[in-house]
Amino acid sequence: MGSVGLDTVETRAGKRADVLGGAASYFSVAAAFLAPVRLTAVVGTDFPDAYTKLLETHQVDLAGLERVAGRTFRWSGIYAADFSTRTTLDTQLNVFQDFRPKLPATWTDSAYVFLANIDPVLQLGVLEQTKKPRFVACDTMNFWIEGKRPDLLRLLERVDMLLLNDEEARQLSGQANLPAAARAIRAMGPKSVVIKRGDAGALLFHEGGVFSAPAFPIEDVVDPTGAGDSFAGGFMGWMARQGDTSPATIRTAMILGSVLASFSVEDFSLDRFRRLDLGQIRERFAAFADLVHFDKIKI
Ligand code: AMP
Repeated sequence: MGSVGLDTVETRAGKRADVLGGAASYFSVAAAFLAPVRLTAVVGTDFPDAYTKLLETHQVDLAGLERVAGRTFRWSGIYAADFSTRTTLDTQLNVFQDFRPKLPATWTDSAYVFLANIDPVLQLGVLEQTKKPRFVACDTMNFWIEGKRPDLLRLLERVDMLLLNDEEARQLSGQANLPAAARAIRAMGPKSVVIKRGDAGALLFHEGGVFSAPAFPIEDVVDPTGAGDSFAGGFMGWMARQGDTSPATIRTAMILGSVLASFSVEDFSLDRFRRLDLGQIRERFAAFADLVHFDKIKI
């Protein structure tokens, strides 16, 4: 569950208006390369059929995607030339404003639950409909940390893992140092915290210590929108595919998250995923292993 919407995005590579976006769109398609995905969200009557078809083509189960009268969620943003910062120009919740998510009855036993970025009240609403999921992860954003902090804190008490970017981790915790921020966030509830740092990679803080996954070096970044959600998709897709939550599975999931994120930035919207297959994912996974491999020799 999370946002599905229409994005207007400008980067040094160009501009796209009203293209498929939303945290749950990126998440679902990325995860669907690895495991079956059920999507809960809402769109308005202006949501193009072509985008519904795209989700269907990727085998995302849309039984939980409501279409109601009104306008679809919209977000627009612009990136600095070096992609180091993003400015949100506009966020319109539209049909998400009055959304009351209702999980299809056969979905309440879903074992792996991802609450993608959206109002924490909606994230809690979905979580409350699930029966003893095995692993619950969630994401959030500055918009909700500022606007819905008490609800977000209630949600955090009930999730296993929180994924967020470095700026958001600092904002949520009030700590400038990332390990200190992760410690403070873990005290809020989630046993594990993944801090995403754009092209500096992602850090996992959990009981077992710290694990670092680099970002795959990409020469032609086109649009970083959705990289975090695609990371979460690769991560949860692998967890669900393996069916366990062991430290080894979580480490591999961090790398598959990085693999899916690295593809997502190579084009606007979800366009890179349209021409992606498991073979390319396997190839980049192998390249990742080479990227980070070194022998633990005696020095
Ligand atoms: P990311 O680049 O991973 O932070 O995700 C960007 C996606 O999040 C875009 O496709 C937006 O449509 C979506 N988004 C932006 N702002 C919000 C918000 N306040 N709540 C939910 N989703 C949002």
